[in-house]
Amino acid sequence: MTSRADAVVIGGGIIGLSTAFQLARHKFGKIVVLEKEMLLGTGATAKCAGGVRAQFSTRINIEMSMKSEEMLVGFEETTGYSIVFDQNGYLFLLSDEKELEDFTRAVELQRSLGLKVDIIDPDEISRIAPPIRTNDIIKGTFCPDDGIADPSDMIQGYATAARNSGVEISLETEVTGLRMEGDSVKGVITSGDEIETALVVNAAGPYAKIIAKMAGVDLLVEPIRRQIVTTGPLDYIEPTFPMIVDVKSGLYFHKESPGLLLGWADPKVKPAFDESVDPDYTDTIIMKALDRVPWLETAEMAKSWAGLYETTPDHHAIIGFADNVKGLFFVNGFSGHGLMHAPAAGLVAAELICGKKTTIDISPLAFSRFARGEAIEETNVI
Ligand SMILES: Cc1cc2nc3c(=O)[nH]c(=O)nc-3n(C[C@H](O)[C@H](O)[C@H](O)COP(=O)(O)OP(=O)(O)OC[C@H]3O[C@@H](n4cnc5c(N)ncnc54)[C@H](O)[C@@H]3O)c2cc1C
Repeated sequence: MTSRADAVVIGGGIIGLSTAFQLARHKFGKIVVLEKEMLLGTGATAKCAGGVRAQFSTRINIEMSMKSEEMLVGFEETTGYSIVFDQNGYLFLLSDEKELEDFTRAVELQRSLGLKVDIIDPDEISRIAPPIRTNDIIKGTFCPDDGIADPSDMIQGYATAARNSGVEISLETEVTGLRMEGDSVKGVITSGDEIETALVVNAAGPYAKIIAKMAGVDLLVEPIRRQIVTTGPLDYIEPTFPMIVDVKSGLYFHKESPGLLLGWADPKVKPAFDESVDPDYTDTIIMKALDRVPWLETAEMAKSWAGLYETTPDHHAIIGFADNVKGLFFVNGFSGHGLMHAPAAGLVAAELICGKKTTIDISPLAFSRFARGEAIEETNVI
């Protein structure tokens, strides 16, 4: 049986749902979201640490984050669904002159775009986050508007708002192929019905490359395993405890329930669809955490899990139409920033699809940038 849609969004994670909701707001017509799993948001979105920050090194990433932070603050007004977005700030710890030089340059750019961000001394760091060892820290950068959002709230909010706006969401429906006619997308072949459509939005997260390949396109997005560990209750972690990023070691941590959530990006991990928990990886995270927060010596470890980043070579998303295939649109490759960029990504994707001027100039995120040799490296990656 074949049905018809004006747009088919592949993937019911945070990016697919945000994009579908925004397309519906633009009255794009019949929009269908296809998700292979039984539930929405069980992919990378469910594994995510919830961090939302505008402290990036490139203009486009800063702008995407600032717009998203604004949209998260106004989330209930737009979607009718209230979410947790704790703006306790992001604090980057700097321990040498080179880091300070790089972050000072980034802070200048961030401030020029209107971000409230300060370079602070170790005394101030100890005041904001008392359990942290600061004897080797020379400065920190702190933005109070950054924070932590609840991924599950955001999924439910966008899914509810999308459905209320007429979007159809089909679960347990795996896309197995794209119906092509020459260089044009004509439909989507699924484990259920085939859907005739002239527009496919690839929002398949770490699986985006597989979807692109169905249209013969090589999308430069690789799945890379990342791990997280959480602790049991810690009575010294205040409700206002911010997200901390130890730039030297790459460790990051924030308040999670009554304890801490700890994460680290192991640079040695090779691309693969591997979400198994590696005990050595877990141990390394714990050792790095003990070094920065010695009080953790008596902490109990609660949970540990692994998930996949969807990573591009320059650590920036790809948002836009494919070059040589008509009707294929990418919202992919967020490289560890997909939750925080989801609100703005859905907005600009819908604007671009509808032929409108985008709220943010997203030309640096074009699919074609790699072929043109115009990749833009984000250096502040965690
Ligand atoms: C450990 C970890 C920590 C992270 N921390 C942060 C953070 O602090 N802040 C932040 O902003 N980001 C973070 N991220 C990144 C963030 O989680 C992702 O960038 C974001 O969730 C991507 O959303 P998505 O919707 O593109 O992908 P997903 O959530 O993976 O959704 C894609 C969906 O597509 C579906 N799908 C795939 N193939 C098919 C198919 N053939 N047919 C139908 N459906 C299909 C999948 O089942 C999945 O549900 C983290 C990621 C990990 C792994």
